[in-house]
Amino acid sequence: MAGLFKRVDQVVQWRCCMGCGACVSVCPDRNLKMVNFIDIGSRPVLVSNDCQHCGDCVRVCPGIEMTAPEAHPNHLPELVCGWGQVLEVWEGYAADPQIRYMGSSGGTVTALGLYGLKEKQVQGVMQIGVSPERPLENIPVFSRTREQLLRCTGSRYAPASTCAGLLQLEQVDGQFLFVGKPCEVAGLRKAHLLRPEWESKTALAVSIFCAGTSTSRATLEMLKALQVNPDEVAALRYRGCGWPGDVKVETRYPNLQTDSLSYFQSWGDILSKRGQLRCRFCVESTGEFADVSCGDPWYRPVEEGDSGRSLVLVRTEKGRQWVHQAIEKGYLELQRVDPSCLPRSQTALLQRRQEMFGRILAVRIAKIPCPEFRGFHLFRNWLHASLRVKIKSIAGTFKRILFRDWRRPMLLPKQRESKEIEWFGAEYPSGKEGNCT
Ligand SMILES: Cc1cc2nc3c(=O)[nH]c(=O)nc-3n(C[C@H](O)[C@H](O)[C@H](O)COP(=O)(O)OP(=O)(O)OC[C@H]3O[C@@H](n4cnc5c(N)ncnc54)[C@H](O)[C@@H]3O)c2cc1C
Repeated sequence: MAGLFKRVDQVVQWRCCMGCGACVSVCPDRNLKMVNFIDIGSRPVLVSNDCQHCGDCVRVCPGIEMTAPEAHPNHLPELVCGWGQVLEVWEGYAADPQIRYMGSSGGTVTALGLYGLKEKQVQGVMQIGVSPERPLENIPVFSRTREQLLRCTGSRYAPASTCAGLLQLEQVDGQFLFVGKPCEVAGLRKAHLLRPEWESKTALAVSIFCAGTSTSRATLEMLKALQVNPDEVAALRYRGCGWPGDVKVETRYPNLQTDSLSYFQSWGDILSKRGQLRCRFCVESTGEFADVSCGDPWYRPVEEGDSGRSLVLVRTEKGRQWVHQAIEKGYLELQRVDPSCLPRSQTALLQRRQEMFGRILAVRIAKIPCPEFRGFHLFRNWLHASLRVKIKSIAGTFKRILFRDWRRPMLLPKQRESKEIEWFGAEYPSGKEGNCT
């Protein structure tokens, strides 16, 4: 099925794009840019019609094909079917109390970045941050200091394309640490095959767990619920500063009081309701291509004043060395936990994986182009699902195909409103906007 896609615009039209930005970074002619479409997500768009049709953009695309990494001999066998290769499960937080507090769950991602900068001679951390001009726009940044890392703490539940920043690495002499969503780490690994020099520069790939990217419309709805006009926003944090942390909006007017929304109100009632379609077909929401992946320990009850903890999965030998050394050197405070903490924390992600075989079956029967997955044990997962879930996975998908018109290709709107450009940027930087130097 992946062979059906010859050009990246076909990937977008058939709703297989996840907006990771890998295609933008490998286009030899720099002829692609990411544009954030407010109801769809961040998507690659041709800069000019002068395309050489080399196919690199499609070869690097994790949206249309994914093959699970080969299993490490020491992986935990009880986790492999639902979560891929996991060598160790830890729980804990950044030893630096400010990083822990500002982090989404326990600041472990940022602590690994700081460890890389201070002890492993990495030149910087490629990650998502906020545009200095537009507080609602996420952009890939290259953080070189603790202060820059701190500015990127916290999850941003809106379109973000970390791989579009990979081009910035051409100016970097030395190694870097990559932080991204699972699809972005998958895009990075595919980019390594086309650009081996990027592989040797990648000191470590860290993934956050991800239930799906919300569109920017969701952010606007969240602001509406807070009764804040997007023009008035000076800074926006979706969460962090305590676990799980409320939404925090700073406005341009210091005396303007805004309402508040808890994480459960913002994510549960608004942001998760407006996701990208391709995320419904995500098979590896916990970052199976990463060396280390981090998420929330939702098995714990949320308590007032909690500073936060993360679940940390070691997925490769390199990841194991980094995590163990970061603990020894005092950057991370982690404890080994029972592997069952993972399924107990991420029930929704496990259920989605159990439904995936049925969802893909329905799409295939309807003859709609869809991604190819190998090595993710989708049929085994489906067999573990209850009869109700099995039926729902197929019937629910048929219903969506019919009512959401998935049988027809989707066309991107020709132009965006000028207000949207003011809030979310005219285009997503493809190496042009680097703060690498
Ligand atoms: C869209 C989304 C969905 C998520 N879904 C789940 C889930 O279902 N279950 C779960 O347990 N956890 C989920 N998370 C991850 C969780 O919110 C935390 O990011 C994770 O626990 C790591 O926390 P931390 O304190 O170690 O990270 P921090 O130290 O706060 O670092 C966060 C890192 O994430 C990067 N980042 C933030 N937003 C994005 C983005 N949109 N795209 C790429 N990188 C980004 C930042 O640049 C930073 O490097 C999700 C995160 C996002 C952004």
